[in-house]
Amino acid sequence: MARARHNGGRGWYGKMFAAALGVTLLATGASVWTAQAGSANGSAPKTKATAPAKQAALKPVDVSIVHASDKGPRGVNITIDDGPDPTWTPQALAVLKEFGVKATFCMVGTQAQAHPDLVKKVVAAGHRLCDHSVSHDTTMDKKPEAYQSQEILGAERMITEASGGVRPMYYRAPGGAFTPYSRKLAASRGMRPLGWNVDTKDFERPGTAAIVATVQRELPNGPTLLFHDAGGDRSQTIEALREVLPWLKEQGYSFGFPVR
Ligand SMILES: [Zn+2]
Repeated sequence: MARARHNGGRGWYGKMFAAALGVTLLATGASVWTAQAGSANGSAPKTKATAPAKQAALKPVDVSIVHASDKGPRGVNITIDDGPDPTWTPQALAVLKEFGVKATFCMVGTQAQAHPDLVKKVVAAGHRLCDHSVSHDTTMDKKPEAYQSQEILGAERMITEASGGVRPMYYRAPGGAFTPYSRKLAASRGMRPLGWNVDTKDFERPGTAAIVATVQRELPNGPTLLFHDAGGDRSQTIEALREVLPWLKEQGYSFGFPVR
């Protein structure tokens, strides 16, 4: 996959976010100080914690691309990209439910905007959301930072609106087209850059058996598995999940989420 070198520095977006972060930290420090002063005086603190939970949850995360599972060395992360799709996402949800598996859904912004009901179903079933850009431009790493910012922040907004306020916890660049800038921007918004270890190649429709065999052969590469629930006929993916999920359980794996 293509990886462009980037030497343009952070640009004004980066500076703007750094400035915003600085203001946030200053404000937090001030309110803590006020609260302490208030209790020392024996009077009630004047500041009230009235920020909505979804805003309070927005904390910067590490900028490095994560692959590890929060379930440890015998954990695997099921990640499902490019949806939501009205035909395939419900089927993926049904298979995951059948085997009691939680997954991470990397959603394209326009898809999320078009199918908010599906985004809400994904969240309601206990799965996590991941920002997969507005338009799935796999060459976005070669484009200006302003464009990358629109793609990442636009999808973040579309997904969060579609979900009813639940934010994406990860950012996966389409085709792996990360840049240092895009990783930093996503991380500043609480979205951990998310990679993968096993590309099942389900997108190429190699047959259910081939998808299953790829998982079994390449699992030693690492715990994060890549599937798709949109972009064409995904019936092979659904059937492969139906075989892979019980096989992984038999091997002693448990299902987790990528580390944040
Ligand atoms: Zn994708």
